[in-house]
Amino acid sequence: METCDVLIVGGGLAGASLALALKPLGLSVVVVETLTPETKLASPAGDRALALAQGSVEIFQQLEVWSQVVSLATPIRHIHVSDQGHFGKTRIHAGELGVPALGYVIPARDLERAVVDVCDRRSVRFICPAEVTGLQVQGDHAAVRLNCHGETRLYQTQLVVAADGGNSKVRQWMGIGQQVHDYSQVALVSMVESERHHQNTAYERFTPSGPLALLPLPKRRNALIWTQGKRQARKLLSLPSRDIESRLQHAFGWKLGRLKLVAPIRGFPLRLIRAERLFAERVAIVGNAAHQLHPVAGQGFNLGLRDVMVLARLLEDQQRRNGNLGALGLLERYAKARLDDHDRIISFSDGLIRWFSLTAPISALGRNLGLLALDHIPRLKRWFSYQAMGLSQQYNSVNR
Ligand SMILES: Cc1cc2nc3c(=O)[nH]c(=O)nc-3n(C[C@H](O)[C@H](O)[C@H](O)COP(=O)(O)OP(=O)(O)OC[C@H]3O[C@@H](n4cnc5c(N)ncnc54)[C@H](O)[C@@H]3O)c2cc1C
Repeated sequence: METCDVLIVGGGLAGASLALALKPLGLSVVVVETLTPETKLASPAGDRALALAQGSVEIFQQLEVWSQVVSLATPIRHIHVSDQGHFGKTRIHAGELGVPALGYVIPARDLERAVVDVCDRRSVRFICPAEVTGLQVQGDHAAVRLNCHGETRLYQTQLVVAADGGNSKVRQWMGIGQQVHDYSQVALVSMVESERHHQNTAYERFTPSGPLALLPLPKRRNALIWTQGKRQARKLLSLPSRDIESRLQHAFGWKLGRLKLVAPIRGFPLRLIRAERLFAERVAIVGNAAHQLHPVAGQGFNLGLRDVMVLARLLEDQQRRNGNLGALGLLERYAKARLDDHDRIISFSDGLIRWFSLTAPISALGRNLGLLALDHIPRLKRWFSYQAMGLSQQYNSVNR
């Protein structure tokens, strides 16, 4: 049986970022990942664009990842929120808030590649391709079983971190339930070239069939995230590009001139999943394994990255006190520290969807008055902007 201090199940963005955050502590950390970097980077899921909040950019600067991707990231200098067919709109400008950017947009694949490269350079120990197939808690440690090239290997560790994504097996093995809300929607993701330059504006447009976001990419390109009901999405996907473009144009309007699809459209089914607990004996849960959100507000990974940093900070404190890294007290502190941020971001993202799904005229009127208020009341606007920028939650860095 091999041993380590912390075993991270899943080397996606959350798991790999945690390994980087723990690097300065000199702990023995192992990341187990099923997919090779080549398979992962070739996956169509890498096409999705991630809106990184300013708070996440600051974390990636500390993890020495940001310098690798800054040239690939497009700053968001303005956010424009509107409701199709109604008068309300809200505009947020980085300049008004005294920040250079409200966030950055980066293709997920570029960020994943950079995180893997930095892990490589900093000698993070990856066991890959390998799958964690079971775990058992035994007193002051957990025994983890993995399948690596058809062979079974056993690890003994103080702490297991479940960073194994929305279908987390670790969560299931530990008997942690989940709350699931199926939006019965699909996010259609692609890239669009616009006749006019976006001027670094992220557009969020709520339409009767679901929210539509255009996020700025280099030149006149924009990442499209277009939410549709399942049946409608299937129908759209069966249409020729020209017809899809004309429906998109109708939904978005002409603010950016003519829109042209320049990449295949991919569909991601949308569900809100929230783990009922963030820990079990010897196990902490981070990232999508803990929460999977609707992408409309671009918050899912930003929230997961804050899980990672809070857990890393607590592990640093525990190490300084010579405590066991999987101690129950530490896990309880982790869950408590994350509760407010999870509650707030989940209600913010989910509330946005529900608020904009109401079709009754009185609801639409209230919503549009709300958007106007947001546009004209500086304190309200500042609150909304801070939620969107991921700056409303503080954590202490481990890399001070
Ligand atoms: C269309 C779309 C748009 C989005 N836009 C945004 C956005 O703008 N901003 C934002 O913040 N978030 C966004 N998100 C969310 C973001 O993509 C996710 O939150 C993030 O990628 C989750 O990372 P993760 O590491 O937690 O999970 P995952 O990426 O799912 O990684 C889990 C890893 O664990 C591995 N694994 C699983 N089981 C095992 C096992 N048993 N053994 C070993 N390895 C295992 C998997 O192979 C995988 O690599 C979006 C999501 C979608 C679908």
